[in-house]
Amino acid sequence: MEYFLNFDKIAYLRGPRPEGCILCLIRDGDERVVRLVVRETASFSASVNLYPYNPGHLILFPKRHVTDLRSLSRAERAELDGLLDECLTALDATHSPAGYNLGYNMGLVAGASIEHLHLHVIPRYPREIGIAELVAGKRVLVEDPFETERRLRAWFAERDAAGAQAGESEAP
Ligand SMILES: [Zn+2]
Repeated sequence: MEYFLNFDKIAYLRGPRPEGCILCLIRDGDERVVRLVVRETASFSASVNLYPYNPGHLILFPKRHVTDLRSLSRAERAELDGLLDECLTALDATHSPAGYNLGYNMGLVAGASIEHLHLHVIPRYPREIGIAELVAGKRVLVEDPFETERRLRAWFAERDAAGAQAGESEAP
């Protein structure tokens, strides 16, 4: 495992956020936000989290501004499930985590800084380093989000080119 966090390198990511819903801005390709989308379906996007908790940390979100999971239709739920499966398969291949934390952020009371419904996909690794080491600026388990995006996009491109359908469940 060779993940390092270079605070200088990602300092530019910590600038002020633009007004408005950041996920809607990403959807619209707004130039004020960094776009790290690695996979899209008709109604959903999967993006590398700009502030990753761990390497490979993704967020999946509906393209329309929905704040409650129950607002999604059954077809949309199935589409999201399919996208989730694809992303897990991709992350297994690119990052080989030991496991995952999967969780929706729904509503600002849940600690979400983004109201737009999103599903966190957080890979977990056997030897994660604690917050003390992180604060001390020692080696920590973080990968440049742009590198994560590059690896995942490359994996998806390769798989699409191969025409493989493994792990993919098409939404109706
Ligand atoms: Zn939104």
